[in-house]
Amino acid sequence: MSLDSVPKELRNLRACLLCSMVKTFDQFENDGCDNCEQLLGFRNNAAMIQECTSSSFDGVVSMVSPLDSWVAKWQRIRECVPGIYAISVSGRLPEHIIQELDEGRNVKYIPRDRRQAN
Ligand SMILES: [Zn+2]
Repeated sequence: MSLDSVPKELRNLRACLLCSMVKTFDQFENDGCDNCEQLLGFRNNAAMIQECTSSSFDGVVSMVSPLDSWVAKWQRIRECVPGIYAISVSGRLPEHIIQELDEGRNVKYIPRDRRQAN
């Protein structure tokens, strides 16, 4: 696992609303999201990080080997890089972003908030 993908501290943690990866605000700002950078472009874009990540999330799992992991399957993060992921993330991507992902990138957004789902 790349150390850059692991939160450097336990304060200022945020979870990506698209893939649920957990990192610090600074890490999102410096490195972007390891999975979604192409789609969301967090790097040097604090406004985007505010909009598309959430500081409110429950539970974290550490994913080391996505393809062998039932947790990864259950969390729908098998396509994602190894790292730390939130089990449930509060909030939703803004509508215009969801639309952009859908129409521009053919990515269907699945909200990560498990407390209102099911
Ligand atoms: Zn992400």
